[in-house]
Amino acid sequence: MQIYWTKINHIIDETEEIKTFLLDCPEDFKWEEGAHTHFALKGFNDGERPNRSLVRHMSISTLPNEKSIGITTRIREQCSEFKSILRTIKIGDQVALFKTNSNVPLKRENKSIYLLSSGVGLATFRPLVLEYFNQPDNIKHVHSLNIDSNRQFLFTDIFKTSSDKKFTSDFVDNRQDYYKAAEQLASDKDGLFYVVGSDEFLIQNIDLLRTHGIKSDQIVIDKHERRIPEFLSF
Ligand SMILES: Cc1cc2nc3c(=O)[nH]c(=O)nc-3n(C[C@H](O)[C@H](O)[C@H](O)COP(=O)(O)OP(=O)(O)OC[C@H]3O[C@@H](n4cnc5c(N)ncnc54)[C@H](O)[C@@H]3O)c2cc1C
Repeated sequence: MQIYWTKINHIIDETEEIKTFLLDCPEDFKWEEGAHTHFALKGFNDGERPNRSLVRHMSISTLPNEKSIGITTRIREQCSEFKSILRTIKIGDQVALFKTNSNVPLKRENKSIYLLSSGVGLATFRPLVLEYFNQPDNIKHVHSLNIDSNRQFLFTDIFKTSSDKKFTSDFVDNRQDYYKAAEQLASDKDGLFYVVGSDEFLIQNIDLLRTHGIKSDQIVIDKHERRIPEFLSF
């Protein structure tokens, strides 16, 4: 397993609680839209076994052509040891990345794509939307629906409805509006539905989509192949 040590080059305060950490891109570090990585803090591999409290799965919120690896996360006042260290991290500090892979690349099947996310889950979709803008081939339309009950909406410069780009975006701040909107999206019986959020969010969305006649092979979730049967039956 290759571990890439790299440096923080910029920190963006996206909202009161959400930050994006931009990392220098090691020369041979490769990823595609929808990728996640293992993001580790200094000291994680000092002992005989890796210290798991210093490692988290994180999506990469940038595309390779942006020249930095973006990690976007929410740091609440009450937080884990990992997040409390992250809160104090500075430009120039070292972090490590390993085992990078994408479970949710863009599917170019001449269908509409619906991106359903909760909170910071939108970070997983940012590079998908940018990739779609760069190369819209064989995709009918993309629509994003995001819920954040704190109204800390992310990336509103990118997630902006544009008829030229065949892209629509909707942000809501409560479950009632979210599930009403999701039900309407499920009326497209030919669409592809990407879902990113907590396991509970995935289960509720999959249940809604399946109830409305969407088949399991039209639903894409950010889980390793071996964990998909826990959520979707084919
Ligand atoms: C494929 C994949 C991709 C992912 N991508 C991302 C991503 O891009 N961005 C991202 O942020 N996460 C992502 N995650 C989730 C991530 O790995 C972490 O599980 C998540 O960010 C929670 O981090 P944490 O465990 O450090 O907890 P925290 O975020 O610190 O806390 C989780 C919850 O527990 C509460 N809590 C924690 N500690 C305490 C305490 N001591 N007292 C009281 N309450 C407490 C917090 O208030 C919060 O509600 C991804 C996961 C997977 C599997």
